[in-house]
Amino acid sequence: MGVPRDLVIDLHTHSNASDGTDSPAGLVAAAAAAGVDVVALTDHDTTAGWAEAGAAARRLGVVLVPGTEFSARSNGISVHLLSYLHDPAHQALVLQNAEVQAARTERARHMVDRLSRDYAITWEDVLAQTEPGTTIGRPHIADALVALGYLTDRSAAFTSILRPGTPYYVPHVAPDGIEVIRAVRDAGGVPVFAHPGADGRGRVVPDTVIEEMADAGLVGLEVRHRDNSQAQQVRLAEIARSLGLIMTGSSDYHGTGKPNRLAENTTHPDVFAQIEELGRSEVIRQ
Ligand code: AMP
Ligand code: FE
Ligand code: FE
Ligand code: ZN
Repeated sequence: MGVPRDLVIDLHTHSNASDGTDSPAGLVAAAAAAGVDVVALTDHDTTAGWAEAGAAARRLGVVLVPGTEFSARSNGISVHLLSYLHDPAHQALVLQNAEVQAARTERARHMVDRLSRDYAITWEDVLAQTEPGTTIGRPHIADALVALGYLTDRSAAFTSILRPGTPYYVPHVAPDGIEVIRAVRDAGGVPVFAHPGADGRGRVVPDTVIEEMADAGLVGLEVRHRDNSQAQQVRLAEIARSLGLIMTGSSDYHGTGKPNRLAENTTHPDVFAQIEELGRSEVIRQ
């Protein structure tokens, strides 16, 4: 099917099924209001928001691409792998999500234990910032610190108390990136490496790792993302060309949790058409 050329396509967003602040339906409504025609819901390590977002997409005439942003690790570096249109019941992915969610919860509890030596914060304060079943992360600890009056907003926590290197920071266990890419392909998903050049967040993986990922079945690189520096975007476009990977651009919208605005970066309709063609699950249309 031909895809009209003027579509606004944003392939990376979060709802409160992970660390966004909009409900899945609210996120789709926000996309409609922002003039987004095609939106992917890519909550961290879960597919819990798909059904609600899908129903809202049908109601509001937005095209929904069901997805997930998987936590992984490559050469000791934390990496995020987006997957579009995988089978949500695929056993290896379901198991992997359950394991990562458990590891994330344990890690968050550990961080709260450490924080509680210096701040009057409890695990209940963090749970009060989450929906049942949410993938828990530092953003929810940040929200609890804001609610308790220690900080003005979530972003302030990421540059101070919750930054890696503070006595409160604990890393979480995550599967190897290559393993995740293989599982995603096996589940009929289309894997795209999220913000691979986010050098402001920490170390980024070298070209050789991206080559290994491509050999394992990686389909694309998220080149246009606010966390990839300009120099990194030039580098990533070059790597994508040489390895034959598709290039996406996305917002990584988290509602009011992050400054990223819907459609601040977008993906070309031809690239979206390739993703739709490759994916096993259906894109949700009215
Ligand atoms: P974690 O994975 O628990 O270590 O936390 C990192 C996550 O926090 C990333 O997925 C970010 O998308 C997310 N995050 C949400 N809000 C913010 C923010 N305001 N600043 C930085 N990161 C944020
Ligand atoms: Fe996030
Ligand atoms: Fe990410
Ligand atoms: Zn994200």
